[in-house]
Amino acid sequence: MKIIMLGAPGAGKGTQAKMIAEKYSIPHVSTGDIFRANIKDQTELGMEAKKYMDQGLLVPDELTVKILLDRVAKDDCKNGYVLDGFPRTIPQAEVLDEAISGNKDGILTDSSDASKPAGSPDTEVGGGIDFAINVDVKDENIVKRMSGRRACLKCGATYHIEHIPPKKEGICDKCGSELVLRDDDKPETVQKRLNVYHEQTQPLIDYYNKKGILKEVDGSQDMKDVFSAIVAILGE
Ligand code: ADP
Ligand code: AMP
Repeated sequence: MKIIMLGAPGAGKGTQAKMIAEKYSIPHVSTGDIFRANIKDQTELGMEAKKYMDQGLLVPDELTVKILLDRVAKDDCKNGYVLDGFPRTIPQAEVLDEAISGNKDGILTDSSDASKPAGSPDTEVGGGIDFAINVDVKDENIVKRMSGRRACLKCGATYHIEHIPPKKEGICDKCGSELVLRDDDKPETVQKRLNVYHEQTQPLIDYYNKKGILKEVDGSQDMKDVFSAIVAILGE
């Protein structure tokens, strides 16, 4: 099963993607997490990405597409994945479609696609993507969520100081590392990220709607209720 999570920054894509990954035993692939891991390790990619992330801007498509395609070509993605934070622009969505439906240049090694009969839904609908789930939350709620978000830069877990607090304040439940307010979650950057979202990412809702794979969920509910709505879409 190949799933894309759509929604504004802070809508709860990552929170739900992790739960989906666990229930359906597929990897959670977050381009934001990949960039943050590279920033932490001070790689060349990380240093380049940081310039954009700190300003609330998108990392250029050339860079982002390459890291995403490298990641989904790995063995653990053979039976599907849940993409969180990718695509964020129409060109990114088009490259993804071409890479996974056309299997051009052998970018993906997943042989199951090639063995499917021509015209089967998995090769024609949404370029191999089964579901694009839009987690819908109003901008006013987003700002509150982002200022309360605390992230573990070691294992990628996220919390919210009010709604989803860690057991011990400031410490990750999963790995015991210190939790931080991400630089790009500071209020001055959040508004800019929302503007970027409306301009460059929101058009993807229409893009996947036209392909017939868009599913909407109300992301302003409690996280368990959001997840139940998603499971109702994906199936038990
Ligand atoms: P995204 O991946 O879309 O940027 P996150 O999953 O990191 O968003 O969620 C943003 C913040 O909101 C986090 O602090 C998270 O713990 C919190 N959050 C996620 N889902 C909900 C929810 N349904 N209700 C309240 N807070 C939530
Ligand atoms: P996220 O963790 O998904 O909120 O992403 C954090 C930041 O990483 C974004 O604000 C962008 O600067 C960058 N980023 C993550 N994914 C992408 C993408 N698909 N395209 C461009 N930039 C991205």
